[in-house]
Amino acid sequence: MTSQEPQRPSVDDLEAAFVDAFGQAPDGVWSAPGRVNLIGEHTDYNEGFVLPFAIDRTARVAIRRRDDQRVRLMSSYAGADPVEADLSELSPDALHGWEAYPLGVVWALQQEGVDVPGFDLYLESSVPTGAGLSSSAAIESAVALSLNDLAGAGFSRPRLVQVGRRAENEVVGAPTGILDQSASLLSTDGHAVFLDCRTQESDAVPLDLAAANLAILVIDTKVSHAHATGGYGDRRASCEKGARMAGVPSLRDLAVADLPRLSSVLDEETYRRVRHILTENERVLQTVKLLRDQGPTTIGPVLNASHDSMRDDFEISCPELDLAVSTAQQAGALGARMTGGGFGGSAIALLSTSDQDRIQSAVLAAFATAGFRRPDVFVVEPGQGATRLR
Ligand code: ADP
Ligand code: MG
Repeated sequence: MTSQEPQRPSVDDLEAAFVDAFGQAPDGVWSAPGRVNLIGEHTDYNEGFVLPFAIDRTARVAIRRRDDQRVRLMSSYAGADPVEADLSELSPDALHGWEAYPLGVVWALQQEGVDVPGFDLYLESSVPTGAGLSSSAAIESAVALSLNDLAGAGFSRPRLVQVGRRAENEVVGAPTGILDQSASLLSTDGHAVFLDCRTQESDAVPLDLAAANLAILVIDTKVSHAHATGGYGDRRASCEKGARMAGVPSLRDLAVADLPRLSSVLDEETYRRVRHILTENERVLQTVKLLRDQGPTTIGPVLNASHDSMRDDFEISCPELDLAVSTAQQAGALGARMTGGGFGGSAIALLSTSDQDRIQSAVLAAFATAGFRRPDVFVVEPGQGATRLR
């Protein structure tokens, strides 16, 4: 089965586009993937567990170092106008458009003491934006890796994860954890990344879907999510409140066994928010164990339970995501859940490759019947993490 990735320019085409834009050849081309979070939602900023994998859709940047302090940015993306900036004048408050991602990384590197040189950059990405597949972290990770090389900073990948996160948190203004950047920078081909967000330790977990005749279908609902302003920050605040009321530094310090006790300490809503985080951590551990011991055919029920928890306890789903998940489940998927921060974006369904067409048609039909916008439905494959291509 193919991943149905849209036709993309080759690396040669990308270099030619760079020459068209800036008049000279780039010094190199770097690539970083988007990700699907297999399981572990909103657990990252609670110092818990997540299990994302890099997908075969990537952001690629061609870059040439300059001798001055200027930065020029271009993207092949229709919604992104060219941008120019001066390195000595970067301020988080003044970066608002798409440039907040690449220049946010520059700013974060500067904060970490890196003497970033001026550069010209051309971006091309096949990660759909706002679909919950982290097109933003793909950009941040590609830029972080390329500037790390160009500036000779010698940062480790876990440190580059923190750089990308600072860009996202302090410049873009989205209060997200390290999940997305970790998936993009730490993934290895054919594996998911089991990440402990407290210690930042990561471990590769086999995710060989093809060998089991399985695929992961992404259903992009086209419902837009807005992390910077939406419910994401509210949920984060609820988790902090829950930890405070329970008298622990972070929800990571609690486990499912604590729930009976917590029900009398927390108000009803906070209790449900906390219950999602504690049970979700447990489900990540279960999934890792199942993948290691028995392989991917066995994880479906855990994915389904995760969706129920996000819908009912954490309340970050929406009618479109619920319909995508329930339709896929009823049409024979092994498991399905919304993925990403919620309030829109994508759902994933784990299915046998022989069922793909039927499940895909069922989802499209259900959306049409409900009067929802037609979703984008496509297969993603586990891919490799960020890398230099040339
Ligand atoms: P997600 O990370 O889930 O895709 P975000 O809202 O975090 O959604 O990031 C999407 C934003 O990233 C876009 O609005 C745009 O500013 C930027 N972006 C993504 N892809 C590109 C691209 N190819 N060119 C320019 N900007 C992009
Ligand atoms: Mg994002």
